[in-house]
Amino acid sequence: MGAHNEPLSREQILAVLRDVEDPEAPVSIVDLGLVANCGMATDGAIEVELIPTRAGCPAREFIRFLVEKRLKVAFGERQVRCRWLDAAAWSTERISPEGRRRLREYGIAVPELDSDGRRRLRCPYCDSANVRQESPFGTSVCRAIWYCDSCRNPFEEMRWLEEGLASHFHQQEVRLWTNP
Ligand SMILES: [Zn+2]
Repeated sequence: MGAHNEPLSREQILAVLRDVEDPEAPVSIVDLGLVANCGMATDGAIEVELIPTRAGCPAREFIRFLVEKRLKVAFGERQVRCRWLDAAAWSTERISPEGRRRLREYGIAVPELDSDGRRRLRCPYCDSANVRQESPFGTSVCRAIWYCDSCRNPFEEMRWLEEGLASHFHQQEVRLWTNP
């Protein structure tokens, strides 16, 4: 796709990153809000900065590998510098409407903020708020298992991580979201 030093716009790079899906859900890393920044550096390299959903996420190295590979496929043998911004705070607010829609289809609910600022979780299948947490342990460290009392389906919650809680997260002690 052209010479290695040909200018690349942020939009061109983002369009390619939209093809990279999170290994744990069929949602692009762009729609999940993992991409903080991307662009072309003065030396022609592609730079991508990613926000981790949680400290020490086991999928991180794999996501970086997918990003670098996908960009090299799209733009040739250009240098790619991809790094994780450990100090940056990700929250479920960064997930795009399209990302939320895809996650719902996959049976994963994302907490939404009410008009009064409270976090609410609704069933991804029937939209009921009549839900309760079954287990803080889902299929990955950022998920919890919930149960909908309206349609009687279990579903997963994409957890909301607040700054400062991430370091405690692996001890599984912190309840990030509880039933009202
Ligand atoms: Zn339901």
